[in-house]
Amino acid sequence: MTRKLFVTTALPYANAAFHIGHIMEYIQADIWVRFQRMQRDGDAGREVHFVGADDTHGTPIMIAAEKEGITPQQFVANIAAGRAQYLDGFHIAFDNWYSTDSPENVDLSQSLYRKLRDTGLIVTKTVDRFFDPVKGMFLADRNIKGECPKCGAKNQYGDNCEVCGAAYQPTDLVNPFSVFTNATPVMKPSEQYFFKLSDPRCFEFLKDWLNTPGRLQPEMVNKVSEWLGEAGEKLADWDISRDAPYFGIPIPDAPGKFFYVWMDAPVGYLASLKNYCDKQGIDFEAFLNDPGTEQIHFIGKDIVSFHLLFWPAMLKFADHPVIDKLKVNVHGFLTVNNEKMSKSRGTGISPLRYLDLGMNPEWLRYYIAFKLNSKVEDLDFNGEDFVARVNSDLIGKYVNIASRCAGFIAKRFDGKLAPALSEGAQTWINRALTQDVNGVVIERQDSIARHFENREFGKALREIMEIADITNQYVDENKPWILAKDAEKTAELHDVCTTALILFRQLTILLSPVLPGVAKNVAAFLNDAEFTWADTQVFGDAVSHSMLGRTIGAYSHLMTRMDAKMIEALFDAPQAAAMATAADAANDAAPAAPALVASTPASAIEELAPEIKIDDFLKVDLRIAKIVNCELVDGSDKLLRLTLDAGEGRLRNVFSGIRSAYKPEELVGKLTVLVANLAPRKMKFGVSEGMVMAASAADEKANPGIYILNPWPGAEPGMRIR
Ligand SMILES: [Zn+2]
Repeated sequence: MTRKLFVTTALPYANAAFHIGHIMEYIQADIWVRFQRMQRDGDAGREVHFVGADDTHGTPIMIAAEKEGITPQQFVANIAAGRAQYLDGFHIAFDNWYSTDSPENVDLSQSLYRKLRDTGLIVTKTVDRFFDPVKGMFLADRNIKGECPKCGAKNQYGDNCEVCGAAYQPTDLVNPFSVFTNATPVMKPSEQYFFKLSDPRCFEFLKDWLNTPGRLQPEMVNKVSEWLGEAGEKLADWDISRDAPYFGIPIPDAPGKFFYVWMDAPVGYLASLKNYCDKQGIDFEAFLNDPGTEQIHFIGKDIVSFHLLFWPAMLKFADHPVIDKLKVNVHGFLTVNNEKMSKSRGTGISPLRYLDLGMNPEWLRYYIAFKLNSKVEDLDFNGEDFVARVNSDLIGKYVNIASRCAGFIAKRFDGKLAPALSEGAQTWINRALTQDVNGVVIERQDSIARHFENREFGKALREIMEIADITNQYVDENKPWILAKDAEKTAELHDVCTTALILFRQLTILLSPVLPGVAKNVAAFLNDAEFTWADTQVFGDAVSHSMLGRTIGAYSHLMTRMDAKMIEALFDAPQAAAMATAADAANDAAPAAPALVASTPASAIEELAPEIKIDDFLKVDLRIAKIVNCELVDGSDKLLRLTLDAGEGRLRNVFSGIRSAYKPEELVGKLTVLVANLAPRKMKFGVSEGMVMAASAADEKANPGIYILNPWPGAEPGMRIR
């Protein structure tokens, strides 16, 4: 049976640009797709369709659009316009990028719903919902704030507390208010549409579906089995409706009701495929019903319940053909130094900054691939490890082979490879391609292919690097740079350089799912039309016949070493980031990670002041203050005039010598730390009523920076620091 693949990734929510987590997932899927595209089924290339889309519906986008004074459609179109620079930048080759706000998605979602309704799996229930009486709309969990019922923290969302981490219902909030109008919400009954996941049919089906071999990773089978319970008793009905006003797809025969965004988002995979099929003249229905079709879906571990409970149950009972074809691959999160990424701690990685710094996207593709396996594990990014891995493997082992040998072919042999190889060279080629480093014969190419197929990319790359190791050993033993000095060894030089380049070509083919840009350049350099996986299967005496006697192009540099300094620039400086926005840090509750970049050596820091008792410390009254205004001071190039609110019911005027470090507009609206009981000081420009705290280096020549303190999100003006 001919395999036909339909590959998808989680749909990114269209309220923001891609973050590095998206890029990691797309790179993982793209490598798998590129490997599949190199396969042939019979005489033809394998049929592989790789599609994505923006997830566009729901309240957050509706509200964000309203804030910008544009329609939600314009808002998501603006976001969509920014996608290509990331995808192209990291060589991520979707065949189609579409949107859940599309006619195809409306049709497919509504038809799925109608079928579920006909099977008796849609029920209505009247539930009490929070309603904003001023705005006249029902409120989603995130549209309500109040005090945490567990710890009393103020300003917490309706679903969970960012201070203590408690999860609760919006109705549990103390003193709730609408984020739109500050009005106290009222409870209002509303008829809602539910997908009846509690129906025994769903349990019976899911239990079998999960356990189909090859469908899910074993960890996920276990996890979802836990959610199912012994007899499905843990499965609750799922509310799939939202009340108008809502940016979404109308529910058929239910005026004023829309599908909850998570209902139509997974349908978006099919909508994007349908859109693509229509453009390509492929019969969408025939493709979905083909027994050889498989959908391979890549998602993160945070959205598993939607994809492994609701979505399969809905597909099944809507009698959708994809249900038997769906295989889901779940990955973990990207961490930095084994901690959750955090802008405020300076460990956030911006994909665009990566590209803007001129960092090679294939470095990141290689590193991510090297660290990926088929398990649901987090992938840790470590800057030093990243530099070391790329420079050692890609530059030191792989590119090095070509850079040491290609020049001789051009200079000494007119760009022409040797027409035949010596017996010794043949032996080395066999050794590199069919033996491990200990000389044990192995099915190297099959093994590498199996690793790619099974998404064990790290294992595939380790094996490929073993081939590179043996090739380098060959070059080191034969020393073409010495042979080149002896006119009588010209034939030997030709033999060695040809052999090394044959192996270099093999390595390139094996690496091409991971390094598509490099592979393209190597193909051009070696005068190859295109690499296919079959090219890796030719060995023994028949080895790379096509290479022998071939004229190749001029070698140009394929990849540069990574400068470790780039890593410093890749991350936001923690202090600058802390000033960025409180929202970025809103989810960070973990302790600070060790800085990625080594701090100033201990000898350079200022000597510690004499020890004090706690009473001494408590004499200093430190308060959180909000910078409500900030201006330049006429006649001073050092000072800024800050107007501070320390929660006292009055504002304070404070002069601060931070003009060299901050522009007034950078500070307005930010929180900082005020020494609140410092005696007022009369200055030339007015009275300063306190002091804001800032850090500076002992050696101001070495580091003239001034860094004002900025508390973690949640702190409020007037809070004492103790
Ligand atoms: Zn709390």
